[in-house]
Amino acid sequence: MAMADVFSRINPVAPPSHIDTDMDILIVGAGFSGLGMAIQLKQAGVENFTLIERAGEVGGTWRDNHYPGAACDVASHLYSFSFDQNPNWSRAFGQQPEIFEYIKRCAQKYNLRKHIRFNTTMVSSRYDDDSGIWHARTADGDELTARVMVSAVGALSDAAYPKIAGLESFRGKLMHTAQWDNHYDLAGKRVAVIGSGASAIQVVPEIAAQATQLTIFQRTPSWIMPKPDRAIPEKEQAEYRKTPFKLHKRRFRIYWMSELFAPFVISDLAFFKKRAEAMAGAHIRKQVRGSGMREIVTPDYRIGCKRVLISNDWYPALQQDNVELIADGPECITENAIVTRDGRTIEVDAIVCATGFKVPSKAAPFPIRGRADADLNAAWGDGAEAYKGVAVAGFPNLFFLMGPNTGPSHTSVLAFTEMQMEYILKAIGHMARHKLKSLEVKKKIQDKFNRGIQWRMKHTSWTSGCNSWYLTDSGKNTTLYPGFNWEYRLRMWYFRSADYHRQTIGQSVRARRESSPSVA
Ligand code: NAP
Repeated sequence: MAMADVFSRINPVAPPSHIDTDMDILIVGAGFSGLGMAIQLKQAGVENFTLIERAGEVGGTWRDNHYPGAACDVASHLYSFSFDQNPNWSRAFGQQPEIFEYIKRCAQKYNLRKHIRFNTTMVSSRYDDDSGIWHARTADGDELTARVMVSAVGALSDAAYPKIAGLESFRGKLMHTAQWDNHYDLAGKRVAVIGSGASAIQVVPEIAAQATQLTIFQRTPSWIMPKPDRAIPEKEQAEYRKTPFKLHKRRFRIYWMSELFAPFVISDLAFFKKRAEAMAGAHIRKQVRGSGMREIVTPDYRIGCKRVLISNDWYPALQQDNVELIADGPECITENAIVTRDGRTIEVDAIVCATGFKVPSKAAPFPIRGRADADLNAAWGDGAEAYKGVAVAGFPNLFFLMGPNTGPSHTSVLAFTEMQMEYILKAIGHMARHKLKSLEVKKKIQDKFNRGIQWRMKHTSWTSGCNSWYLTDSGKNTTLYPGFNWEYRLRMWYFRSADYHRQTIGQSVRARRESSPSVA
């Protein structure tokens, strides 16, 4: 046995360096998180896994969101795998083509494509109590089976169109930012953009530069900070290539700067809010002329309640001669125009919906039936819940990446998902070592964890009274993690087998239930 393997057996916080198993593992989704999970499995010597991907290419959100101006609002050196850092980022904040290239390169480098079934959509899955096996059905009628299933469908992958009367009657070009048509030429067109969130503030300056007329419908303004972006000169990139320590140091610094910034976004304490709002207010005063316009773009809710955005070109774009900002949503849409709430008819050639996504952590990403035919959607009827964001009682051998309450508001999502990957690896290693048929989190452990999460939510800016995709209809935050990433890391480092009901191969379901009376 290799020394590293001995170490990982005696140290429950280290992910196993080698897993000896013939268990089949099914990963749903080949975006950042699904590929990261696959890489970690490979590095632990596990090869019998399959990824299914509904599209024809890897990349998830970074494949789909290729609208002009699409970029990441987390610094490039942090928005990449810690185990495959990239010295070649050309900008401090990566743009979509470069991030997409990075993801494709990872798929190539770790030889993952042979594990991926492209153009395969999962339509349902069912856990078989007797065998401890997941049966997954795809849209083309195939059935896949696996001992372990990992949902890596992403947090925001299904475009949400706005519910506006007449939208379907529009005869011009209708696009969602996540379903952009690269062949559509905006030059000389009259365009309307609906929305003023993270996607809108990136696409609007690009459209404003090309369209003859741009009308923006802003229902709610966003709090926006300056973006400390810059081109990274080739000389600096060469230094990172030559001295990886410098690259690690840069990542380390960005990580801890983001952690320092966390309370300004997350906490509802006046001390943090006042300072953060003063910074964002100064950005408005510096970039926006005229008190009328300043008033329209200044939010009336606490900073952090919705996602805090960064941009240097949104406010200037709003003030271009060819741009009009309407401080409301549209009233309705006709064949060739948008009608405003005050009765104006604005003729347009194209409508861009920058209206966000359907949020899966409010509901099951696809029909999932667990032990005793339990329906995940029903289990999540009151809002999605999981233990540490990865495991759900009643659904053995199923793990989530980017599951409930694991989204970050202040740092890279990968800083969270990597910890989930390592945790899942530890769980799989545990199953392999003990020849487990099933591993299912205890309901009381999951409930205790979520009581703590929801208690902490009461003291965050997210529940301070705005309407956002973070919340369910009843106002419960099921999407974000209410704390620092370093603290989530500590929680995820330790895989405690006592948190789980475990059933070995050969043990009957009844025997296990009798020995586990607390299972819900
Ligand atoms: P979003 O934040 O949900 O924003 C949707 C926008 O559409 C909001 O301004 C919303 O207004 C508006 N809207 C929705 N329905 C409307 C209607 N019927 N009439 C008028 N306006 C309507 O969506 P997003 O901008 O696509 O961003 C979603 C998330 O994706 C972000 O929070 C972020 O996590 C991620 N993202 C990240 C980046 C990045 O740089 N890393 C870039 C883009 C997106 P209300 O606010 O009034 O609801």
